[in-house]
Amino acid sequence: MRYDVLTLFPEMFTGVLGNSILKKAEEKNLVSYNVVDFRQYSEDKHNRVDDYPYGGGGGMVLTPQPIFDAIEDLTKESTSNQRRIILLCPQGERYTQKKAEEFAQAEQLIFICGHYEGYDERIRQHLVTDEVSIGDYVLTGGELGAMVIIDSVTRLLTGVLGNETSAVTDSFSTGLLEYPHYTRPVDFRGLKVPEVLLSGHHKNIEEWRHQEAIKRTLERRPDLLEGRKLSKREKEWLEAFKGNL
Ligand code: SAM
Repeated sequence: MRYDVLTLFPEMFTGVLGNSILKKAEEKNLVSYNVVDFRQYSEDKHNRVDDYPYGGGGGMVLTPQPIFDAIEDLTKESTSNQRRIILLCPQGERYTQKKAEEFAQAEQLIFICGHYEGYDERIRQHLVTDEVSIGDYVLTGGELGAMVIIDSVTRLLTGVLGNETSAVTDSFSTGLLEYPHYTRPVDFRGLKVPEVLLSGHHKNIEEWRHQEAIKRTLERRPDLLEGRKLSKREKEWLEAFKGNL
């Protein structure tokens, strides 16, 4: 996976891409990061990348020229249809684990991080394949959004996580929230680990975890259960849990 990020604040990425799993993924050559300050593409004599909005109003708008030129430069060497050009934008499609799984199939993700009041509309209309919002709130810039997507996609790539199964049972990957975890000690200040987890009986443990995932999802995110195809067992558990709510 190759990531290219167009931003006016490249230093913001140093800490996030240079630590932990994202750093290790690069060291293992599973990903590469190319963070570009798109101001360097500006043809303005003062290197400006924004201007006042036509029609008046507050805030500055990113001009099309530097961003169009940067994208053309980044894509001139190949015509891959495995490439996505992602505009970070609060008006875009809300980002989900499903979208992360879809992006993880690509070979190249290019991010355009906005700032100020936003972008010239022609960028949105003619340059990008995806507009993505990371939630219903407004950030000062798209950088944090790009980092969220890079992080959530990278951990899905083969070879990135030590334990390959951990991304499979994560919340949302199964359509449910994940079951609770416990580690040592068995008794912490009188708070005990559930017996079943100490039993060594794998089938019972698996069933307990499945039940807990259903229960937790019902309690915290019942919307995830709507429209989900439930097995007979799941339906029975759900009815029992509902009775106890
Ligand atoms: N005026 C814009 C609007 O109302 O839709 C908001 C502009 S915002 C202050 C500046 C930039 O931050 C956006 O262009 C976008 O790149 C980024 N941004 C803000 N909120 C975001 C969100 N929820 N998801 C992704 N990017 C966001």
